[in-house]
Amino acid sequence: MPRTITPDSRRSPRFSGISTFARFPLLDQVKPECRPLDWIIYGIPFDGGTTYRPGARFGPRAIREESQYVKPFHLEYGLSLTEALSIADGADAPVRPYDCRENAQSAGEFGASLPDAKTARLLALGGDHSIALPNLRATHQRRGKGARPLALIHIDAHFDTIDQVWDEKYGHASPFIRAAEEGLIDPARMISIGIRGPLTSSQDLDYSKKHGVTLVTTDGLRKDGLRAMDSFAKRIGEDEVYLSFDIDVVDPAFAPGTGTPCIGGLSSAEVIGLLRHLGAATGRPPNIVGADVVEVLPDRDVGGITALLAAHVAFEILCLSALRTRQAT
Ligand code: MN
Ligand code: MN
Repeated sequence: MPRTITPDSRRSPRFSGISTFARFPLLDQVKPECRPLDWIIYGIPFDGGTTYRPGARFGPRAIREESQYVKPFHLEYGLSLTEALSIADGADAPVRPYDCRENAQSAGEFGASLPDAKTARLLALGGDHSIALPNLRATHQRRGKGARPLALIHIDAHFDTIDQVWDEKYGHASPFIRAAEEGLIDPARMISIGIRGPLTSSQDLDYSKKHGVTLVTTDGLRKDGLRAMDSFAKRIGEDEVYLSFDIDVVDPAFAPGTGTPCIGGLSSAEVIGLLRHLGAATGRPPNIVGADVVEVLPDRDVGGITALLAAHVAFEILCLSALRTRQAT
């Protein structure tokens, strides 16, 4: 009996039906025998926090559309995601398109209110990167009172620890500075991977230096490989960690559909390799308790390749969780 019941694609073609993420059931269609849930994927279609080109509000729809071709069996791990975990599509959070702060409030409350709070972890599809804050808030709330701030694996071309842009403190340049202020994450147990310039000024580095964020630039990755990530993984060990994935870490040649593109990035294969490498240092995937995949801008995409990659990134994150669950049993 699979934990997640999806249509049998040998009978019901992948191009038919309404698009939920990877054909997972909507919350109200989850069979009682598949409860409690392990993960809920939901969209936060908000791009009011964008500092350059808007349009990521259409990200969740595009990712769901391209996710129809995400199949459940992970060849390298030798596991079936739908047999290992119970996953549902939680639809979209209500958004407040004109106001970043109100949007974070409304999306955060929605995430917190999703069912099976004790077991179901939240994977949010953006939306611009400001939506990481409400998903972090919801994740924190579901972990219960007094929970320790989370470790953070942040994969992005940008720092996202800028205090404010145009007097806006809740935009997509600032989610992690706000999350740290709110006690949701611990910047000393935060790694930012794939960062590359150019920057507005050297001051963009200030927060990371002052608070001990581990920085791995794209050049650093090319030079030293994944060693910094391995030692970070060893250091956080079994700590609960949140994984935030900004698609602009990928080179615009592979992921053109994004609002703040940054050249010289990783290839699709390299980011998938990076995600699969997580856990190599400790022999076990990190204890991921929440995640997001953000900044897909379909109107700049070509043939859906950015949204397709985002769908597969979400799949790889869920498979890390499935692998960890399998190792525990
Ligand atoms: Mn970002
Ligand atoms: Mn970015």
